[in-house]
Amino acid sequence: MTKTLDNYTRSLREAAIAHHLPPFTDHKSLEADGGPRIIEKADGCYLWDTEGKRYLDGMAGLWCVNVGYGRERLAEVAHKQMLELPYYNTFFKTATPASVMLSEAIAGLLPDHLNQLHFVNSGSEANDTIVRLVRHYFNLVGKPDKKVFLSRHNAYHGSTMISASLGGMAGMHAQGDLPLPGIEHIMQPYWYGDGGDMSPEEFGLKAARALEERILELGADKVAAFIGEPVQGAGGVIIPPETYWPEINRICKEHGVLLVADEVICGFGRTGNWFGLQTLGIEADIVPMAKGLSSGYLPIGAVAISDSIAETLKTQGGEFAHGMTYSGHPVACAVALENINIMKEEGLVDRVRDTMADRLNEGLATLNDLPIVGETRSLGLLGAIELVADKATRTKFDPLGKAGGLCRDHCFEQGLVMRACGDTMVLSPPFVITHQQIDELVAMVRAAIEQTARDMGM
Ligand SMILES: *Cc1c(COP(=O)(O)O)cnc(C)c1O
Repeated sequence: MTKTLDNYTRSLREAAIAHHLPPFTDHKSLEADGGPRIIEKADGCYLWDTEGKRYLDGMAGLWCVNVGYGRERLAEVAHKQMLELPYYNTFFKTATPASVMLSEAIAGLLPDHLNQLHFVNSGSEANDTIVRLVRHYFNLVGKPDKKVFLSRHNAYHGSTMISASLGGMAGMHAQGDLPLPGIEHIMQPYWYGDGGDMSPEEFGLKAARALEERILELGADKVAAFIGEPVQGAGGVIIPPETYWPEINRICKEHGVLLVADEVICGFGRTGNWFGLQTLGIEADIVPMAKGLSSGYLPIGAVAISDSIAETLKTQGGEFAHGMTYSGHPVACAVALENINIMKEEGLVDRVRDTMADRLNEGLATLNDLPIVGETRSLGLLGAIELVADKATRTKFDPLGKAGGLCRDHCFEQGLVMRACGDTMVLSPPFVITHQQIDELVAMVRAAIEQTARDMGM
């Protein structure tokens, strides 16, 4: 960053380096860059930094600002709720109108057997909660040895000790001495990367049967639950083959293993239905959710549980000794409820499915002529572009991540926010994105990929 900065931006960057230790950041390289890019305001699908540069937000923040930025109704609801009741807890047999109404609204969007909601403040807390809840549940039903959680390599389930353990991110595991005991990982259904000569359908079955093999190895009496994102997000928008989830349903049922669908990204419309489990046909017992629940306007998460688990907790559970001060925070609940109202009134879920999904898919497919684009794929408004050294053999660049990092930087230069997961460029735009903005986005990605190919000597 060689250009001269205005004083405001410079002072913020210096203060950031001095005091602000941010998450998922290489702090040394941030300092070498002269501090962070500072995003100051947003409207619709666009962001502006302190230097006045505009960006099309291809990521909806971090997969969350589904209704887009600048929603006055959400600000008004928060304002009103803060004046009326800024805080009260939901412990010890109390509730607030907002927390009750939100639980009812979410239950109305879920499949019929999921009716009880437990509120938390993030996706990570939702996933910590499910481990507490499932262990408690199997104690109650007299199976105290049934405790192991199975998950997948390259899954993302959050960043607390338990949720990072449930996740399958090697780098996170290495830094945290994770996973904690009682959590094991199987292969992911990543056909493009791992499918070799198999058809997607064959490979989907193979990846699902890795779950059955591990259950049989450990003993079904030891395995409590399997957790998976309907579509892996942070792992690189990995859309499983169609055979995958039906086979996972069968395996979980047959072996008495609870199925957890982590809907933190897919929930609230991202795949073209209210939940990813509806799009992919997942028969889940437990559903953690966050991000799109409030479109990121305030922090909130939730866990939905099946009627049969709820029945056990209610009839035999006693006090569930778990909760956070801000569980069911009335302002976050009121905003989440209004967010759902907006999505319903504007038909945003139908918009994703019926008008935007194909447009994104076709737009991304136009990039396939570029020599370093190995595959493009999308489901609803979740998309990915695989950058590879050799298309024909699907050979990745070495070191992995360099091309992705360069491409992400070129996207920023173009005025587009995209994220790189290794060398997979991922997209998750707000649902209010227009056809014209998708065309704009694809043109900017094309220019960024062409520049990346030149940088990589291709
Ligand atoms: C983001 C994410 C989480 C963690 O949510 P936080 O609110 O960041 O704690 C969990 N699961 C999935 C699938 C996610 O994408």
